[in-house]
Amino acid sequence: MHKNRIRVLTSHQVRQKAYVLYWMQHTQRIQNNFALETAITYANDHGLPLKLLFVLTPDFKDAYARHYAFMLEGIEAVRKQCPALNIDFVLAVGAFETQVHAHLKNASLLVMDDAYMPALVQIKKTIATKADALGCAVLQVFSDVIVPVDKVSQKCEYAARTIRKKLHQLVDTYLAEAEIKPVNNGTFKAREALSIETLMQTIDADMRVKKSRYFEGGELNAYKQLDWYCENQLSNYGKSSDPGEDITSKLSPYLHFGQISAVDIYQKVSAYTDQFPEAVEAFIEQLLVRRELAYNFVTYCDGFDQFDTMTYPWAYKTMDGHLSDERTHIYSIDDYIHANTHDPYFNAAMIEMVHTGFMHNTMRMYWGKKIIEWSLDYKTAYETILTLNNRYFIDGRDPVSYASVAWLFGRHDRAFQSREVFGKLRYMNAKGLKRKYNMDAYLTRMAQVKSDSED
Ligand SMILES: Cc1cc2nc3c(=O)[nH]c(=O)nc-3n(C[C@H](O)[C@H](O)[C@H](O)COP(=O)(O)OP(=O)(O)OC[C@H]3O[C@@H](n4cnc5c(N)ncnc54)[C@H](O)[C@@H]3O)c2cc1C
Repeated sequence: MHKNRIRVLTSHQVRQKAYVLYWMQHTQRIQNNFALETAITYANDHGLPLKLLFVLTPDFKDAYARHYAFMLEGIEAVRKQCPALNIDFVLAVGAFETQVHAHLKNASLLVMDDAYMPALVQIKKTIATKADALGCAVLQVFSDVIVPVDKVSQKCEYAARTIRKKLHQLVDTYLAEAEIKPVNNGTFKAREALSIETLMQTIDADMRVKKSRYFEGGELNAYKQLDWYCENQLSNYGKSSDPGEDITSKLSPYLHFGQISAVDIYQKVSAYTDQFPEAVEAFIEQLLVRRELAYNFVTYCDGFDQFDTMTYPWAYKTMDGHLSDERTHIYSIDDYIHANTHDPYFNAAMIEMVHTGFMHNTMRMYWGKKIIEWSLDYKTAYETILTLNNRYFIDGRDPVSYASVAWLFGRHDRAFQSREVFGKLRYMNAKGLKRKYNMDAYLTRMAQVKSDSED
């Protein structure tokens, strides 16, 4: 692992206490987890056992049963692997600060994952401050991106073209994998299997958005999907923008919960460069450039999650100029959720979102653009899009969610010829979808999803 992945947060040395504490929060996997590698190394070097703590918070913002179920499937996969590594797995229910604090008193060192979204950045700062006051050393480890965000750039990048070269220049430096070996100290028996249903009841998970029957969480499923994808569909990635083809990797839910390593995906996909160079290049553009541009966005662009600050001055200017343009249709959020608009492509996209927890990238673009077109004003559109995005997508509430929704309003994009309602923002219409893609196949697939959901 490259040492730049580690950030030292206090000036304390590792102290002689009962265990090294790894608070697993964002990187919810064993395989290629750099924070876990760090914790194991310190435990073995200092003759200490390792406690892996996962805190289940009942009221995580915008988290519904769908998200909790997927996440807990991943945590159960982590639990299962702990005995073979001689790691003490502990699941605690409650607030992050309280639960981590309860385990800090006897900790020789706290290792924690990286954080990007403001609420989590703040919680981790608070916990580091508390640990510091107790004399406990704290390390934070960057496992979720390929290139640590602050090593790529220290400013808000304007667009993919301004960050692409920087990422490509650095990527090879950060491809070393984590070495996950057993802990030498202490002896731990397997903890009882998690009852996901009981845990969901304990935290009173919001059942209005149900578990998806299309995605099962956990790193085993994630790596299986990666292998299957590379062997069966990667070669066709050039056609992946066609919603009718359904040939994207569907790895974003696993990436969002840290159940798969972006480094592993990069390595595995790159191994096919000689066989299908164009497909690999196109895939890496999404995984490395677009995804890590989003991490740059939430790290350095102040107000990235507020309508009034998330995009560029030219975009606000053009929206101001078109605020009073007549809207041909106005729909409510309930009309969207019930796929009750005049547009069959949009309705099919809503079926995909509500019932599967996922949506094809081209349809996400079209879906968002239509909500802009059918809302009374741009701010309402922004809030509606973000609400639906984060409520229904398993990969919602991610840095990529915020960058992508801002993209609908011009961020990381360019100005186009001006038109009604959109001004200079990029526009998309149904005719364009029909001309370029096999939309009938998409409609048929979504009709099947709808019918399956009625079973
Ligand atoms: C309006 C809108 C909302 C979106 N909301 C989300 C969201 O909430 N969460 C989310 O993860 N993605 C979001 N995206 C980005 C993109 O649609 C998804 O990442 C992609 O569809 C995931 O499918 P996949 O894993 O099959 O992608 P693949 O095409 O197989 O790509 C591989 C990986 O590259 C990354 N990637 C792909 N497309 C993009 C992109 N456009 N921008 C950044 N990274 C990308 C993802 O990590 C993805 O898993 C949104 C896009 C739009 C236009």
